[in-house]
Amino acid sequence: MSNKQASFLASVQRNFDKAAVHTGLPKGLTDQIKVCNAVYQMKFPVKIGNGYEVIEAYRVQHSHHRSPTKGGIRFSHLVDQNEVMALAALMTYKCAIVDVPFGGAKGGVKISPRSYTPAQLERITRRYTVELIRKNFIGPSVDVPAPDYGTGEREMAWILDTYNTFKGGEIDAVGCVTGKPVNQGGIAGRTEATGRGVFYGLKEYCLQKSEMKELGLTPGIEGKTMVIQGLGNVGSYAGIISQEEGGAKVIGVSELEGTIVSDTNINIKELLAYRKSKKTIIGFPGTKEVKVREDWVGLECDILIPAALESQITKANANKVKAKIIGEAANGPITADAEDILLKKGVVILPDMYLNAGGVTVSYFEWLKNLSHMRFGRMEKRYNQNKNMDIINTVEKMTGKKLTSREKAQVARGADEVDLVRSGLEETMVNSFYQIHDTLRKKKGVNDYRTAAFVTALNKVANDYMTLGVFP
Ligand code: NAD
Repeated sequence: MSNKQASFLASVQRNFDKAAVHTGLPKGLTDQIKVCNAVYQMKFPVKIGNGYEVIEAYRVQHSHHRSPTKGGIRFSHLVDQNEVMALAALMTYKCAIVDVPFGGAKGGVKISPRSYTPAQLERITRRYTVELIRKNFIGPSVDVPAPDYGTGEREMAWILDTYNTFKGGEIDAVGCVTGKPVNQGGIAGRTEATGRGVFYGLKEYCLQKSEMKELGLTPGIEGKTMVIQGLGNVGSYAGIISQEEGGAKVIGVSELEGTIVSDTNINIKELLAYRKSKKTIIGFPGTKEVKVREDWVGLECDILIPAALESQITKANANKVKAKIIGEAANGPITADAEDILLKKGVVILPDMYLNAGGVTVSYFEWLKNLSHMRFGRMEKRYNQNKNMDIINTVEKMTGKKLTSREKAQVARGADEVDLVRSGLEETMVNSFYQIHDTLRKKKGVNDYRTAAFVTALNKVANDYMTLGVFP
């Protein structure tokens, strides 16, 4: 077990304990909420090249207070049981915070995906899925995986196809996994969802006038400087959407090959294209390389966004942080020791279990779409469009003023699936922000966003247990 993974689980449990004392819940109940309900460790052989490799993998269901359980699958050579347990626990609290009716789960396969060909990755993914089916650890009403670090819609499509092979005829089979390609039961807007949720959360926080004043910042995300670690799914969309829709300025980016900075805005879309062709972010026009990659932590900026992996800001480097706000796009990027240092320095941390919950929120929408067997917007889009056109025509008649046909089409347009998904996501992130904010303002002794988020989540999960009659 690596130190980082062990300290990740320990940090989640320490943060839990710090919050639990503010809930007033009986110890037996908080003990039950804290533990992982089921841990499945598996080892299976996969043909790689001329021989076989034994692959180590996990699926952890943290809490069965709601069904199905839900959580991503990670492919990384760092995967171990502690890491998957920590991530599964975070999923329970995350789902509770954004009112997604699932228990938390997580999966992990201990491989470095870059070391395998697509055909080998397909064999590993399919074999892993078979293991899950054999132990009843997957199914639309049992446990529903999704993408995480090192996986994406390609892997989710393999999982669905394998599930269908074994469970042909199950009417809701397509809901056994989320984050699928749109043409295979996925939902428009899922790929960007976590990064988009990060943007909505940061935007709402930056609107808080008194809190911005305390940090010496002006309200609004526009013009805020950002540094991002990890330009994968979450980091890249968080950056692109913050730039394009929020007017934020990305002035630093860190990836495996190094860290770059700029005095102006680093265009993330262009940087991604550059990295695709050159296989590195180093040398991107208008940027300079920072000598030591890890120095991204200490770059001067308003908002620091760790979007790679856990345990990146530790007690060894927390003192270097110059940012005023840290938006945890990754899961567990700050250890509990580092958090103590940062809070003392007055840094505001928007916690993972809230800020990156956009992915599971839209996964929930995808699962609902799968169970209803119909895309969102199909019933009402034309109706709304025709109604809007009637209103415009009536107003034109009454006022004698005319819109161009282009303006008319724009105003009258009914919502597509992606519009509804984004709207549902924004509503969720804003609503959840104020639930946490309310706890922070009203609960004596709760002084930071993570503790407030935990208290909010624990009360909801506890309420479910009590409703179930488990803890009267
Ligand atoms: P990803 O694999 O798409 O991207 C991660 C990126 O981080 C990669 O580009 C990788 O090269 C980079 N990276 C790894 N180590 C690094 C280091 N030391 N320094 C700089 N860059 C480094 O993964 P992702 O899906 O974007 O997930 C990132 C984080 O967000 C994880 O903690 C994950 O659990 C969390 N998360 C993901 C989702 C989702 O929907 N994908 C949802 C919620 C939370």
